[in-house]
Amino acid sequence: MSRVGWRLWSAVLAFVVFMIDVLTPLEGAVAVLYVVAILLAARTNRRNDIIVAAGGCSTLTIVAFLLSHDLEAFTSPTLRALMSLAAIGITTLLVLQNHASTTRLAAQARLLNLSHDMIFVRDRGGIITFWNNTAEQTYGWSVDEALGQLADRLLRTSYPDRREAIEASLLDTGRWEGRVQQRTKAGAVLTVDARWALQYDHLGKPGAVLETHTDVTDRVAAHNALVQSEHRYRRMFDASRIGVVEEDWSELRAALDSLRIEGLDLRDHLTKNPDFVAHARRLARITDVNPAMQKMAGASGSAAFIENVHRLLGDHDRSFVDALVAFAKGQQFHEGETELVRLDGRKVPVLFTITFPPDPDGDHNVLVFVVDITERRHAQDALLAAQAELAHAARVATLGELSASIAHEVNQPLAAIVTSGEAGLRWLRRDVPDLKEVATTIGHVVAQGRRASEIVTRIRTFLKKAPPQQDMLEIGEVIEEATALVARELAKDDVALTVEAQQGLPPVRGDRIQLQQVLVNLLVNAGQAMSGRPGSRTVTLRAGILDSETLAITVQDSGPGINPDDLPRLFDPFFTRKEGGMGMGLAICRTTVEAHGGQLSVTSTPGSGAIFHLTLPHSKQHTLP
Ligand code: ADP
Repeated sequence: MSRVGWRLWSAVLAFVVFMIDVLTPLEGAVAVLYVVAILLAARTNRRNDIIVAAGGCSTLTIVAFLLSHDLEAFTSPTLRALMSLAAIGITTLLVLQNHASTTRLAAQARLLNLSHDMIFVRDRGGIITFWNNTAEQTYGWSVDEALGQLADRLLRTSYPDRREAIEASLLDTGRWEGRVQQRTKAGAVLTVDARWALQYDHLGKPGAVLETHTDVTDRVAAHNALVQSEHRYRRMFDASRIGVVEEDWSELRAALDSLRIEGLDLRDHLTKNPDFVAHARRLARITDVNPAMQKMAGASGSAAFIENVHRLLGDHDRSFVDALVAFAKGQQFHEGETELVRLDGRKVPVLFTITFPPDPDGDHNVLVFVVDITERRHAQDALLAAQAELAHAARVATLGELSASIAHEVNQPLAAIVTSGEAGLRWLRRDVPDLKEVATTIGHVVAQGRRASEIVTRIRTFLKKAPPQQDMLEIGEVIEEATALVARELAKDDVALTVEAQQGLPPVRGDRIQLQQVLVNLLVNAGQAMSGRPGSRTVTLRAGILDSETLAITVQDSGPGINPDDLPRLFDPFFTRKEGGMGMGLAICRTTVEAHGGQLSVTSTPGSGAIFHLTLPHSKQHTLP
């Protein structure tokens, strides 16, 4: 009921009592009922209402007495009126007192509402009698929903111990603290720190229980995550096959800070002050090492390490200076390679990564990850040995190729010598020997012999790794010499050779004999391809400028051409389709041309001959306009 309602009922009752008092012969006895009107007014919880009601009722008592009785001497109605006034007075006092204590309690309850903790009061039976704002917000039940409920059932609280034992301890000491789990109205599980206090009445009997609960769900979750992370780290630390060393570099930072002089080149300073570096190595304290690291260093436990890194690094270690510079520069990672000295004095090659914490407060947690690279070193050594063997084998193979090429290259002048010799003999054996022709053929023999000797010399130079000749060559002259050398051979096979060379071609830089050999090879191959075949046998050698940097020479024949299947292998050493052939000619040609900075390729239409394309860079100094 509202305040106005209570006031109205109080006034109505007072009026009814007054009327009964005045109109009936009860003579003041009924006036005691004014007490009820005061109690009704007290329900408004307003001090003023109580005082007004008390004043009103007293006035009505006196008025009724005066209306019914004169001011007589001390009669019994007078006494009854006085008794009524006394009852009104006493009731008013009690009600005011009660009001004051209720106001005080309400103020205290408002204070409890300010708390960030969930606070509720329950009686010994567990029924909730007070429920603060935070409890409303966190648990989700309003005051009206919570009051009168069984706390444990409402919150579905689960305790770390038996409930009876907890209650017994509460009765025993008057307090209980512990961590419990509760559920909100929405069903969420909360972890809360509970603090209970038992209230005693004035007789010392246990009464209500004040339960204060702090929600620690997030804190516990964060803590659990931290614990899990620590476990994970431990597992990695212990199970990793990579060596891990935990170090404390805080003293090292202080030592480096004391060095900080403007413009100091730290690396230079450290190189010049090995004593400081040795001191610094002792300042880098080891706080823990994992089992993999213990194994790597030949230690039986981590205790053997708990000292500093000085012992682990050899006398000639350079990596620590680099690490110090990286640390001083504020880098977060540093990688390096060094040799670790095992406890038995043996050295182990290792790769390491240091992680420095980003802020100086973390300097006590520098982590060094170490990988033993002994096996990798072995593998590297084995690889180097294998490479050396391979190179040796390749050289042996090259020598084989070279012997083959000597045989191939010398074969052609030898054949020419034999041809010229036979011709000379024929001229001699005539009835009248033609000495002029004999002299010419002997001249050919001598020229081819010289050529063979020059070829051998060139190949020997090549074997000795002497650089090839780098002469300025008129390519027209080289072509002339080459064609002269093969002229007889081609003529023997009825092959017509045509040379179409542009006038004034720029010179090329290179080795005259080698380039001659290339052209001789291509021309001889062309002749051999057409030998014994019906139809016209022609070879055309063309030379001209391809672009501002390159000369192009082509050798085209009218032979059978090249089988497309053979094209990819044509320039491979030992590829031949000739009986008794060696398959070295084209391989040597290509190598020679490439050594001169040019290229050699072939195009062919089977049945219509082959065209070998040769390009050579010409000397820029002499480039024609
Ligand atoms: P060889 O002359 O000892 O066989 P080459 O390396 O000079 O070695 O030639 C390899 C092969 O290329 C020859 O066996 C031949 O079948 C083919 N060949 C070279 N030139 C021509 C050409 N002008 N026409 C057709 N085939 C050719």
